[in-house]
Amino acid sequence: LSTWSAVPAGPPDPILGVTEAFKADTSSQKINLGVGAYRDGNGKPYVLSSVKKAEELLSASNPDKEYLPISGLPEFTKAAAKLAYGDAAPLKKNAVAVVQSISGTGALRIGGAFLGRFFPHAKAIYIPNPSWGNHTAVFRDSGLEVKQYRYFDKKTVGLDFAGMKEDIKTMPANSIVLLHACAHNPTGVDPTPEQWIELSNLIAEKQLFPFFDMAYQGFASGDTVRDAFALRHFVSAGHQVALAQSFAKNMGLYGERVGAFSLVAADAEEKARLESQLKIVIRPMYSNPPLHGARIASTILNNEKLYADWLSEVKGMAERIISMRERLYDNLVGLNTPGGWGHIKSQIGMFSFTGLTTPQTQKLAEKAHIYMTADGRISMAGLNAHNIDYFSESVSKAVK
Ligand code: PMP
Repeated sequence: LSTWSAVPAGPPDPILGVTEAFKADTSSQKINLGVGAYRDGNGKPYVLSSVKKAEELLSASNPDKEYLPISGLPEFTKAAAKLAYGDAAPLKKNAVAVVQSISGTGALRIGGAFLGRFFPHAKAIYIPNPSWGNHTAVFRDSGLEVKQYRYFDKKTVGLDFAGMKEDIKTMPANSIVLLHACAHNPTGVDPTPEQWIELSNLIAEKQLFPFFDMAYQGFASGDTVRDAFALRHFVSAGHQVALAQSFAKNMGLYGERVGAFSLVAADAEEKARLESQLKIVIRPMYSNPPLHGARIASTILNNEKLYADWLSEVKGMAERIISMRERLYDNLVGLNTPGGWGHIKSQIGMFSFTGLTTPQTQKLAEKAHIYMTADGRISMAGLNAHNIDYFSESVSKAVK
């Protein structure tokens, strides 16, 4: 008898399943809108030219392959914090503890583990309903109790702001609340700046602890400062936030696994204590983080010319997505597709919750070779000038 004979097969990952079905389809018209990675105007993966230039500079400098410190590459973590927090007061007074992480997921996991060990209140975290599918698993495996707050209104395909506020009001004081800093995944629906200000006040009143997940800075609006509004507002309002950053989307460094986790401390002395404990959390998990991607990001963030190039490339990616939203909206309305489609344009970031039902998504897969998750979420980056008309017509037919 095998040692593992009692191990049951786990369910397949719902998003990777979409890719499997897509791969198995032999139609030349097929479109994969499941995967959350940017594609260029020809549907191809895109390596940013600022990233290529940074790699050339790095290679020319003939770097070694020694271990990084447990907390990562100092020039990278410093620049990552600056990108996120800007001129925020805690950063200026050296009161932000920051460590490198294995992309955004790793940052969430370090945060979860740290809160599990040191958060001085009940260890419950509230995440939006719906949220990125991995949030529940990451925080549960970190030892936190995961609960939900209302976020999305199916009827309006928009933010359920009243429901969200009601749920925040009924959370026990000193709970942890996870917020998507921008480009909410999977809905593409974000609070407005005015709503963020209200949320910041409410979260302060209720003495909740905000944990920001910022996986799309710059990628949402095309502007890294605009996308950091919520985070920076909360910090300037005096919240001691936790922050998970990812450079997967905004630098196209998916597989390089570049990210950072940070905590706002009271002062430099507290920051040093937090960093010492973050290292103790990290050391037994993976000892120290990977080198190459952090060097790329650091080269870009610390070189004036490359930084400017990168900002315009992020803007280019965001704008291509925004233009696809406009074209999809115009097409659907032009085809007299039943229903309101304004949400396609008002949503932001990689994803759009189309409002398509599960049977409609099945019909699209079977009849039109178009693949998306069963909740009707599409990756906008999978659309381009070559397939948008076919996609729009297929959706219009599926809805009629
Ligand atoms: N948070 C959110 C909301 C995301 O959408 C993602 C990427 N899908 C991540 C975190 C983490 O991604 P990564 O680990 O690749 O940085």
